[in-house]
Amino acid sequence: MASNSDENQINIPAAVLRVETETTSYHHEPPPPYYSAGTAVTERPIIHQTIIIQASLRDKPMLYECSACRETVFTKVRYVNSQKTHLIAGFICGFTVWCMLCCLAAIPYFVPAFKKAEHYCPICNQFLGSYTKI
Ligand SMILES: [Zn+2]
Repeated sequence: MASNSDENQINIPAAVLRVETETTSYHHEPPPPYYSAGTAVTERPIIHQTIIIQASLRDKPMLYECSACRETVFTKVRYVNSQKTHLIAGFICGFTVWCMLCCLAAIPYFVPAFKKAEHYCPICNQFLGSYTKI
Protein backbone atom coordinates (compact mmCIF):
# COMPACT_ATOMS: atom_id res chain seq x y z
CA MET A 1 0.00 0.00 0.00
CA ALA A 2 2.71 2.45 0.90
CA SER A 3 4.57 1.73 -2.31
CA ASN A 4 1.41 2.53 -4.37
CA SER A 5 1.02 5.95 -2.82
CA ASP A 6 4.71 6.70 -3.42
CA GLU A 7 4.32 5.78 -7.06
CA ASN A 8 1.29 8.08 -7.42
CA GLN A 9 3.19 11.05 -6.04
CA ILE A 10 6.15 10.45 -8.30
CA ASN A 11 3.97 10.30 -11.43
CA ILE A 12 2.48 13.79 -10.92
CA PRO A 13 4.27 16.31 -13.12
CA ALA A 14 6.22 19.11 -11.42
CA ALA A 15 4.23 21.89 -13.14
CA VAL A 16 0.94 20.60 -11.73
CA LEU A 17 2.43 20.43 -8.24
CA ARG A 18 3.64 24.04 -8.51
CA VAL A 19 0.19 25.27 -9.58
CA GLU A 20 -1.52 23.46 -6.74
CA THR A 21 0.95 24.89 -4.26
CA GLU A 22 0.36 28.44 -5.49
CA THR A 23 -3.42 27.99 -5.45
CA THR A 24 -3.33 26.51 -1.97
CA SER A 25 -1.16 29.29 -0.64
CA TYR A 26 -3.41 31.92 -2.27
CA HIS A 27 -6.53 30.55 -0.61
CA HIS A 28 -4.96 30.33 2.84
CA GLU A 29 -3.44 33.79 2.94
CA PRO A 30 -5.78 36.73 3.23
CA PRO A 31 -5.48 39.40 0.56
CA PRO A 32 -3.37 42.38 1.52
CA PRO A 33 -5.55 44.89 3.35
CA TYR A 34 -6.33 48.12 1.53
CA TYR A 35 -7.48 49.82 4.64
CA SER A 36 -7.03 49.13 8.29
CA ALA A 37 -8.28 51.28 11.12
CA GLY A 38 -4.86 51.59 12.73
CA THR A 39 -3.13 53.08 9.72
CA ALA A 40 -6.02 55.38 8.88
CA VAL A 41 -5.89 57.01 12.31
CA THR A 42 -2.18 57.70 12.03
CA GLU A 43 -2.42 58.98 8.44
CA ARG A 44 -5.19 61.48 9.14
CA PRO A 45 -3.99 64.99 9.85
CA ILE A 46 -4.70 65.99 13.40
CA ILE A 47 -6.33 69.38 13.52
CA HIS A 48 -6.10 71.32 16.75
CA GLN A 49 -8.63 74.08 17.09
CA THR A 50 -8.42 76.69 19.78
CA ILE A 51 -11.77 78.18 20.58
CA ILE A 52 -11.61 81.45 22.43
CA ILE A 53 -14.79 82.53 24.07
CA GLN A 54 -14.72 86.29 24.33
CA ALA A 55 -16.80 88.24 26.77
CA SER A 56 -19.51 90.31 25.20
CA LEU A 57 -18.64 93.94 24.65
CA ARG A 58 -19.92 96.60 27.03
CA ASP A 59 -19.90 100.39 26.96
CA LYS A 60 -16.41 100.71 28.51
CA PRO A 61 -12.97 99.72 27.17
CA MET A 62 -12.39 96.02 27.74
CA LEU A 63 -9.70 93.41 27.36
CA TYR A 64 -10.35 91.78 24.00
CA GLU A 65 -8.49 89.71 21.40
CA CYS A 66 -8.31 91.47 18.05
CA SER A 67 -9.47 89.31 15.17
CA ALA A 68 -7.04 90.95 12.74
CA CYS A 69 -3.71 91.21 14.59
CA ARG A 70 -4.42 88.52 17.25
CA GLU A 71 -3.21 90.79 20.04
CA THR A 72 -5.03 90.97 23.34
CA VAL A 73 -5.66 94.66 23.89
CA PHE A 74 -7.85 97.10 25.73
CA THR A 75 -10.34 98.29 23.15
CA LYS A 76 -10.60 101.88 22.06
CA VAL A 77 -14.22 103.03 22.38
CA ARG A 78 -15.95 105.64 20.23
CA TYR A 79 -19.44 106.77 21.15
CA VAL A 80 -21.55 107.46 18.10
CA ASN A 81 -25.15 108.49 17.66
CA SER A 82 -27.46 105.71 16.62
CA GLN A 83 -31.07 105.56 15.51
CA LYS A 84 -32.05 104.96 19.12
CA THR A 85 -30.27 108.19 20.13
CA HIS A 86 -32.37 110.15 17.63
CA LEU A 87 -35.53 108.30 18.68
CA ILE A 88 -35.00 109.14 22.37
CA ALA A 89 -34.29 112.78 21.50
CA GLY A 90 -37.53 112.86 19.49
CA PHE A 91 -39.54 111.44 22.40
CA ILE A 92 -38.03 113.97 24.84
CA CYS A 93 -38.77 116.79 22.41
CA GLY A 94 -42.35 115.56 21.98
CA PHE A 95 -43.00 115.45 25.71
CA THR A 96 -41.28 118.76 26.56
CA VAL A 97 -42.53 120.94 23.70
CA TRP A 98 -45.69 121.73 25.69
CA CYS A 99 -43.73 123.31 28.52
CA MET A 100 -41.13 125.03 26.34
CA LEU A 101 -38.32 122.74 27.55
CA CYS A 102 -37.65 121.03 24.25
CA CYS A 103 -33.97 121.94 24.61
CA LEU A 104 -33.80 118.91 26.91
CA ALA A 105 -34.01 116.82 23.75
CA ALA A 106 -30.29 117.52 23.25
CA ILE A 107 -29.39 115.47 26.33
CA PRO A 108 -29.09 112.10 24.48
CA TYR A 109 -26.49 113.63 22.15
CA PHE A 110 -24.19 114.50 25.07
CA VAL A 111 -24.60 111.47 27.34
CA PRO A 112 -22.64 108.34 26.27
CA ALA A 113 -25.27 106.08 27.86
CA PHE A 114 -27.66 106.98 25.05
CA LYS A 115 -25.10 106.35 22.31
CA LYS A 116 -23.72 103.27 20.63
CA ALA A 117 -20.26 102.22 21.83
CA GLU A 118 -18.05 101.05 18.96
CA HIS A 119 -14.93 99.11 19.93
CA TYR A 120 -11.73 99.32 17.88
CA CYS A 121 -8.30 97.76 18.20
CA PRO A 122 -5.79 100.45 19.31
CA ILE A 123 -2.99 98.76 17.32
CA CYS A 124 -4.50 98.08 13.90
CA ASN A 125 -7.72 100.11 14.26
CA GLN A 126 -9.85 97.08 13.36
CA PHE A 127 -13.55 97.35 14.21
CA LEU A 128 -14.25 94.71 16.87
CA GLY A 129 -17.92 95.22 17.61
CA SER A 130 -20.46 97.55 19.08
CA TYR A 131 -22.67 97.74 22.13
CA THR A 132 -25.87 99.63 22.72
CA LYS A 133 -27.12 99.92 26.24
CA ILE A 134 -30.66 100.93 25.35
ZN1 LIG B 1 -5.65 94.58 16.01
